[in-house]
Amino acid sequence: MGTPAAPDPNRLRVLVVEDDDTIGHHLETGLRSNGYAPTWRRTGASALAEAEHGRFDALLLDLGLPDLDGLDVARTLRARFPELLIMILTARTDDIDVIAGLDAGADDYLDKPFSLSVLLARLRAHLRRRTVISPAPQPIRLGDLVIDPAARRCTLHEEEVPLRPKEFELLALLARHAGEAMARETLMAQVWDENWFGPTKTLDVTMAGLRRCLAEAADRAARPCRLPQITTLRGHGYRLEG
Ligand code: CA
Repeated sequence: MGTPAAPDPNRLRVLVVEDDDTIGHHLETGLRSNGYAPTWRRTGASALAEAEHGRFDALLLDLGLPDLDGLDVARTLRARFPELLIMILTARTDDIDVIAGLDAGADDYLDKPFSLSVLLARLRAHLRRRTVISPAPQPIRLGDLVIDPAARRCTLHEEEVPLRPKEFELLALLARHAGEAMARETLMAQVWDENWFGPTKTLDVTMAGLRRCLAEAADRAARPCRLPQITTLRGHGYRLEG
């Protein structure tokens, strides 16, 4: 790999965890030639050690590692570094693995084989969203559900409804447009990336998770509660009604 270059404080630092030499090398050179400062590690243990003394902006994580399960690496680093962007690179394309990855704290995932330009576009979109500071919007009440975008909290009868970041953003967007039909493309563009051009399975997985979390919160509630309805509009998208 040659002599490591001194870290440039102006470059975004990306930790790449990949045991496949071809993919790891491809990612390292691709990231470097696109202005990032990559650090490549082949094992979960060496990545965890590296993350402790490097300040990383993003993590690109293979799930099938020789020593640790990539999901455990994601879980550990999410707990240690809440602001870290975590993107999983996986050959496991089943929904269940995608859900497990998102549950472990990943922000996004990319199925292998992936194209470098798609990966870079997703990385740019995520990192840009993190730096956008928008004015604090007011809480939205729909039935017994309160969505507070400023606090990033969702409560049902004052009890917190635990949502993953994308589930919350999806709910908040639908709530801001309550009663309106929202196209899949609009939701993908606003919640994930304004230049979305990939498959929209991510939206279905996130919507399923959101519905499950809301239903579970209603089941846990001590008294009956009024939840907004999310209606699937076939061939178009979704509509939320309070
Ligand atoms: Ca692997």
